[in-house]
Amino acid sequence: MERELNCLRCGERMRYARREKIQLGETGWFSGDWGNLMAGAMEVDFYCCPACGKIELFQPRGGEDNGLPQKVCPLCGKEIDFDYPKCPYCKSPC
Ligand SMILES: [Zn+2]
Ligand SMILES: [Zn+2]
Repeated sequence: MERELNCLRCGERMRYARREKIQLGETGWFSGDWGNLMAGAMEVDFYCCPACGKIELFQPRGGEDNGLPQKVCPLCGKEIDFDYPKCPYCKSPC
């Protein structure tokens, strides 16, 4: 889902680059309450400015276009992405 964005630096229309999943939690980028809100990984949309090269990250809007189904770990009960080979929280193979 693309959104209309203008570069904060130069005002050029920013282009949607790609969607990527970044790993949270184990990297320790966020702690405390954030750890509960972001279940291990988070999808972000990359936008870049063709004029000055600025890159911005956005959390995808909505959620209905999130192609990754979630599952609940049978051991710790946390919600994790379906394609995880192991639970990122308790490391159980689920
Ligand atoms: Zn720019
Ligand atoms: Zn678990």
